[in-house]
Amino acid sequence: MTVSPDPRTAELSERLNAVRTRLDAALEAAGRPAGSCALLVVTKFFPADDVRRLLSLGVREFGESREPEAGRKVAEVLSDWAPDDPADIPVFDMIGTVQSKKARSIARWARMVHSVDRPKVAEALGRAARTALDEGERTEPLGVLLQVSLDGDPQRGGLVEAGLEALADRICADDALRLRGLMVIAPLHGEPGHWMDETARIHSAFRERYPDAVELSAGMSGDMEIAVAAGSTCVRVGTAIMGERPLLSQ
Ligand SMILES: *Cc1c(COP(=O)(O)O)cnc(C)c1O
Repeated sequence: MTVSPDPRTAELSERLNAVRTRLDAALEAAGRPAGSCALLVVTKFFPADDVRRLLSLGVREFGESREPEAGRKVAEVLSDWAPDDPADIPVFDMIGTVQSKKARSIARWARMVHSVDRPKVAEALGRAARTALDEGERTEPLGVLLQVSLDGDPQRGGLVEAGLEALADRICADDALRLRGLMVIAPLHGEPGHWMDETARIHSAFRERYPDAVELSAGMSGDMEIAVAAGSTCVRVGTAIMGERPLLSQ
């Protein structure tokens, strides 16, 4: 007898396959190698059971955006998922705005923080990651992406290009942190293609100065294809896989 998956798993499976197909097609259209852009599935506002369903479908990279929701969910998922193969251990990234007082908690569970845009947050994360390393709560430095603001809108977070270097130097000087690249959320106004061209230009200039900063986290459900064309190494996809988030979400 074959057991059919529960309806939610079937729905997630279908949407996940559609997004993987879109990502493969976008890479091919951009002349990029298959698999050269990671898919981070954004599970904010959705329960630990959905993360478990996604694990059963082969997803290993997740994005979360809020504490304490994220820390609790990660602990719950890891409490009953103990794979033998290290490649099956899921990783969780922090993609939302970081409050300094939450840094200690984030440093326990996050592989990488995509949204660092202030010295105060970088310092808090550095201290928190140092403690987590010393306490054996993590084995690797905390990865950091600097969030770039393309239009200078303070509401959306991020640093304008001229501010990147000072913060990047600070992060490089902290051995509990590791600068991995840049993150961008395209503004809602203007031409998406223009924003992505800007992103590609800024990342390329940044990499000349910081050669290890190879990651570019760009693209969400609605703009994956242009982000991949602009060189994204990680798309963050929520709605297209999980469905609509409850109201009040961002
Ligand atoms: C929620 C969120 C996403 C996912 O957006 P979708 O449009 O639902 O795919 C991506 N990036 C960040 C920073 C987010 O907060």
